[in-house]
Amino acid sequence: MCNCKQLAETVVDLNAGLISQALPLYGQDLFPRFFGEIEAEDFEPQLSYGDLYYCCKECGQAWYFECSPDETTSPVFAIKRYDVEQRLSKDKVNAKKEFITLLAHNGFSDKKCSHIECDNYQLNGKKMCHKHLSML
Ligand SMILES: [Zn+2]
Ligand SMILES: [Zn+2]
Repeated sequence: MCNCKQLAETVVDLNAGLISQALPLYGQDLFPRFFGEIEAEDFEPQLSYGDLYYCCKECGQAWYFECSPDETTSPVFAIKRYDVEQRLSKDKVNAKKEFITLLAHNGFSDKKCSHIECDNYQLNGKKMCHKHLSML
């Protein structure tokens, strides 16, 4: 059984290392629908590193996936699409990545980013903001 319906519209596999886990991620347990495992295994087309657009064969959900560069590749970052025709702009994808980075940390602390001349707040538990903490 796939779990596409239970997952949020944006999903990241935290085990894949896209967001550094060297320090605790305070949002991980608060927003499980965003950080859950994509359990579906049959996609059209078959998962392939570098391809972006897929459908779950079981429920028909259209997905945007960024897959790991491993031989047995798997989705490490995912966005639901309205239908199979929808294409996502780079800005749309980047906006989702910033959003889910914020969720993973459960937002900001009240201290400013330690990057020089940056006026953003630090992500909870980190020394830098979402712009300066590299993700992906
Ligand atoms: Zn599905
Ligand atoms: Zn910053």
